[in-house]
Amino acid sequence: MRLVFIGPPGAGKGTQSDRLVEYLKIPHLSTGDMLRAAVAKKSPVGELAGRYMSAGQLVPDPIIVKIVGGRLTEPDCQQGCLFDGFPRTLGQAKSLDDFLEQAATPLAAVLELRVPDEILFERLAERGRADDKPEVIRQRLQSYYRQTQPLLDYYEKKKLLRPIDGTGPPDQVFQRIKRVIDELKTEHSP
Ligand code: AMP
Repeated sequence: MRLVFIGPPGAGKGTQSDRLVEYLKIPHLSTGDMLRAAVAKKSPVGELAGRYMSAGQLVPDPIIVKIVGGRLTEPDCQQGCLFDGFPRTLGQAKSLDDFLEQAATPLAAVLELRVPDEILFERLAERGRADDKPEVIRQRLQSYYRQTQPLLDYYEKKKLLRPIDGTGPPDQVFQRIKRVIDELKTEHSP
């Protein structure tokens, strides 16, 4: 099964993705994790990406598309995968459509984790990652609303969007996600 996780920073995508890939036994493709690994390695891509990340801005599409495209050709991705934090722009969504069309492996659904801003701020302030400073958080939320939110319409039109209430304890949120996944499994079984 191929799934996309969309949600603002702090919505719990990372936590819920870990549980979901464990449940479905599919690889977890987090562009945030891939970029942080490139930054830690101090590779040229990492140095460039790191500048955008520390400012709370999106890394340019060509870099992201190249990283994801490379990862998608690896054997473990053939049976499905969970995209976490990708796509984040319409350009990325269209590139993903092209990748999946070539491989004849459509998306099963786009899970949208919904959490109000006040709760996002509280959660991010507690987390303390390098890009979790208040001014960077504000910029990341702005990037989300400006560049990523239009994707919700895009996937709604394709009838792929499944909104999920992301408030409450992680166990409770995961139960909601599981309910959607189990529905999808029935829809997709012959
Ligand atoms: P995340 O771990 O998903 O919150 O991503 C952390 C940071 O990495 C973001 O604030 C962006 O700067 C960058 N990033 C991650 N994924 C993408 C993407 N798909 N497109 C552009 N930038 C990204």
